[in-house]
Amino acid sequence: MPSHNLARIEIDDLEIIGYSVAGEETVVAMPQLDVCFDIGKAPDQLIHINNVLLTHGHMDHAAGFAYYLSQRKFTDQSPGTILAPANLLNPMRKIIDAWGLLDGNKIPANLVGMKPGDEHQIKPNLFAKAFPTKHSKGSLGFSVIEKRKKLKAEYAGLTGPQIVELKKQGVEIEYPLDIPIVSYLGDTQYVDFSQLEYVAKSKIMIAECTFYEGEHATRAQAGRHMHIDELAMLLGSMQNEHVIITHTTQRTPMHEIRKMLKDAMPADLHEKITILPRRPPSRPARQ
Ligand SMILES: [Zn+2]
Ligand SMILES: [Zn+2]
Repeated sequence: MPSHNLARIEIDDLEIIGYSVAGEETVVAMPQLDVCFDIGKAPDQLIHINNVLLTHGHMDHAAGFAYYLSQRKFTDQSPGTILAPANLLNPMRKIIDAWGLLDGNKIPANLVGMKPGDEHQIKPNLFAKAFPTKHSKGSLGFSVIEKRKKLKAEYAGLTGPQIVELKKQGVEIEYPLDIPIVSYLGDTQYVDFSQLEYVAKSKIMIAECTFYEGEHATRAQAGRHMHIDELAMLLGSMQNEHVIITHTTQRTPMHEIRKMLKDAMPADLHEKITILPRRPPSRPARQ
């Protein structure tokens, strides 16, 4: 029996698996990209993912990071890599060391401190890029960007051998092309993320939208979270094909959230939205 009942969304062959409830737990994985955005309480099913992209240090997003690292050792996997805001690295090391003392075993960890604009290679053609968010000191969002090389238009009609020959001669026949696959905002107040082209053009944006009711706007402001009115404003300026909403408050029932989203958004924006369910449908009982 796995530790968590995780929700699963599929978008054009890309799997998004996770669990997210404001203040309780947030963890969103994309196994094909080998990344887990935040780690929540480290669900068993996600321990094998090699890269955790931690957006900030709040307990509901970060509680399981030491357990994630130690479970990888326990199950003979390579040390996990955690990308985290650079200002969190010292406290994270202290926690890992303290657990090492309690447990009697040193916990292997590959921690990478990130600042806005930093990139880190995940796979040969895949990079995580950090951008600033407005939530807690040093908080970050992450985009996962595929880097390809494309043939320049003027060489498009060439045959394979001609291309090989030009390459041999050292002619630059290709240009770099960045394809932003997904951007994960983590927890954040409204920021005009359309200013960052790689976030605005990510195929998928995973955004928090914590609060929905009118009287919750001040709550959103105080906790530095997004309110539905701000989400509507944000989506109006973005170019993402798909938007996944996470971090919904339990103060508002899910059916009301769905209705409010429908009412607040123009139809073309609303149809891009999928909410990461708070309680995934339980598996059908065995016959
Ligand atoms: Zn949170
Ligand atoms: Zn937070």
